[in-house]
Amino acid sequence: MNTKEGLPLFKNGEIALVTGGSKGIGRAVAYDLAANGATVVLTYVRNERAAQEAVAEITAAGGTAVAWKANVADEVEVKQLFKKIKNEYGQLHILVNNAGITNDGYVAAMSEAKWDEVMQVNLRGTFLCCREAMKVMIKQQAGAIINVASTSGITGTPGQTNYAASKGGMIAFTRSLALEAAPYHIRANVVAPGFIDTDMTKKVDKAILNKYVNMIPLQRIGRPEEVAYLVSFLASERASYITGKVYTVDGGMTNG
Ligand code: NAP
Repeated sequence: MNTKEGLPLFKNGEIALVTGGSKGIGRAVAYDLAANGATVVLTYVRNERAAQEAVAEITAAGGTAVAWKANVADEVEVKQLFKKIKNEYGQLHILVNNAGITNDGYVAAMSEAKWDEVMQVNLRGTFLCCREAMKVMIKQQAGAIINVASTSGITGTPGQTNYAASKGGMIAFTRSLALEAAPYHIRANVVAPGFIDTDMTKKVDKAILNKYVNMIPLQRIGRPEEVAYLVSFLASERASYITGKVYTVDGGMTNG
C-alpha cells in the first residue's frame, strides 16, 4: 500500500514492535508495516517455527524483520525485550500490542486461573509493553501505539467475560494513555476487529461462527490483512491528528 508517489509510509526506516507477530493478525500487521518500509521486531511465545516463517515471508518480499521470543505477561521478559530493542536499534517508533489469547467459559464455572490468564496476557501485557515503550517514546518526543482489542470489548460476548473485560480494559487504558501521551507527540489508538480468519477463530464452534456470520452485514469473516491496513495507517504520519480513538474492523457488525 504505497503513496501516490510510490513512497512507502515509513520511508525513514522506522522501528516497529509487533507483539504476537508470528501468525494471524499480528503476522499480517508485521508484513504490511515491513512492506511499507518499517524495520519490524515481531514476537512470539511458543511457536518459534511460525515466527521464523513470518520473518522469511517478510524478507522474501524485500522487507526487514527479526523474531524474538517474549511473553508479554512477564515483566522480566518484557523489560529484556525492550533492552534488546534499545541495544540493537536505539529507538522505537511504532508499538502494536497484538498478542492476545482467549480461554472461554461461562462465569458461573470460570476458574480464577482462566480469568487471570486472559487478563494477564491481554491487559497486563498491553500495560507492560506500553510502559516500556513510553519511556523510549517520551525521550524521542514521537511514537505511535496501536492496541488490538476486539468488538467483544465493546458489545460483550457470552462465554467470553474474561476476554471481553480484558479488551474493554484495553480500550479504556488506551483512551487514558492517549491523553497522557499527547503532550509528548505520541499517539495511541485502538483497532477492534470482529471475526477474522485466524487460528483463534478456528477454535470457535462452526455452528456458532455461522450464526455470527449471518449477523455481519458484509456476510463473511475478515482477513488478517484487512486489519493490518488500518494498523499501518494509524501507525503512519497520515494519521498524525488521530489519537485516543477506537476503530472497528468487523464487516459492519458493530454499530457506532
Ligand atoms: P492467533 O492467530 O492465535 O495469534 C496470537 C499471537 O499472539 C501468536 O503470535 C502468539 O504466539 C502470540 N501470543 C500469545 N500469547 C502470547 C504471550 N503471552 N506473549 C507474547 N505473544 C503471545 O490470534 P489472532 O486471531 O491473530 O489475534 C491477534 C489479536 O487480535 C489478539 O489480541 C486477539 O484478541 C485480537 N482479535 C482477534 C480476532 C479474531 O477474530 N481472530 C477478533 C478480535 C480481536 P505463539 O503462537 O508463539 O503462542
